[in-house]
Amino acid sequence: MSRIEFKDVRHAYPPPAGQAPVYALKEISQVWEDGGAYALLGPSGCGKTTLLNIISGLLTPSEGSILFDGRDVTRQPTAARHIAQVFQFPVVYDTMTVFDNLAFPLRNRGMPEARATERVTEIAEMLDLSDRLHQRAAGLTADGKQKISLGRGLVREEVNAILFDEPLTVIDPHLKWQLRSKLKELHQQIGVTMIYVTHDQVEALTFADQVVVMYDGGVVQVGTPVELFNRPKHTFVGYFIGSPGMNVLPCKLENGQPVFANNLLSSGYPADADLSGKLEIGIRPEFVGFGDDGIPVEIQKVEDLGRYQVVTVKHEAEQIKMLVGEDEAIPSESPMIQFDPENLHIYHDDWVVETRNA
Ligand code: ADP
Ligand code: MG
Repeated sequence: MSRIEFKDVRHAYPPPAGQAPVYALKEISQVWEDGGAYALLGPSGCGKTTLLNIISGLLTPSEGSILFDGRDVTRQPTAARHIAQVFQFPVVYDTMTVFDNLAFPLRNRGMPEARATERVTEIAEMLDLSDRLHQRAAGLTADGKQKISLGRGLVREEVNAILFDEPLTVIDPHLKWQLRSKLKELHQQIGVTMIYVTHDQVEALTFADQVVVMYDGGVVQVGTPVELFNRPKHTFVGYFIGSPGMNVLPCKLENGQPVFANNLLSSGYPADADLSGKLEIGIRPEFVGFGDDGIPVEIQKVEDLGRYQVVTVKHEAEQIKMLVGEDEAIPSESPMIQFDPENLHIYHDDWVVETRNA
């Protein structure tokens, strides 16, 4: 096991002839602590797979270095890195049995047959594959094949980290939930660093202790699910995490406090100075409420989600989402809304204004 460190890593794939390179990763310095459970969360195309491939050595970054426990492995081949990687789509040998598929990474590294059998039996049990060990992999469904791929990632004992690249994409929803809990359980048992890539916030938040949010080739925030919810550092994190995501609204500043559509608001995190550039406030739907005074709005839509109602309101051109309890009345005449100052954040060119000891 090791602590994995990225130092000023950037990566550009070779551009088509005559074109300038575009960086798929834009300078990432990041530590993956030994034994951590990380989720790498971000939309399609933001660089997640590129980053995993750089850890495992399938890809050498154009710039920067990768350290395992302080040792530079940037130019080392995959075999020397002891990383297990599970890909998005099943990688199995169709003509081999399930057993032989699972034993392959172990036999390949010279593990004695008795010990390999023990390991394979254990992992097969965990993945509910025990009754199919002697079938050929070719006969399995996509689910079954992906379970073999997961098993091949999990079966090795001496690895520095296990990387999962959206491994549950082809798995049906019910089994997805089961496998995700199993992975989490397994992490608690074996304590190997796991990096789990997904574009699904629920998956990320249930699996990980630390979520690394990526956007457009960079890491925008690393934090616990609670930190990402309470204080999104970048408007993208606010918007991507939460359901519905954070409201991001244009504002001006007056003595460091935000003014939204001529309404002077109060934020627990005022700006030090009246900045220029793109200025916005961010407030999650959970922290918008109806009141006797505040910002006048028009109600556009009420969606009943059982315990909550999602209410969409409009002030001038701006749409705002609110989460309201199931029993809470929705005012019918001249509704007004208020923002909770402690949860109102100011963003300057998409980055949160850092004041106070946040
Ligand atoms: P993600 O896994 O988050 O969807 P990727 O790491 O696959 O993102 O891709 C990041 C960016 O790099 C994308 O713009 C993608 O088109 C580009 N890219 C990925 N692989 C290659 C490649 N082999 N050659 C050229 N461009 C690539
Ligand atoms: Mg990918």
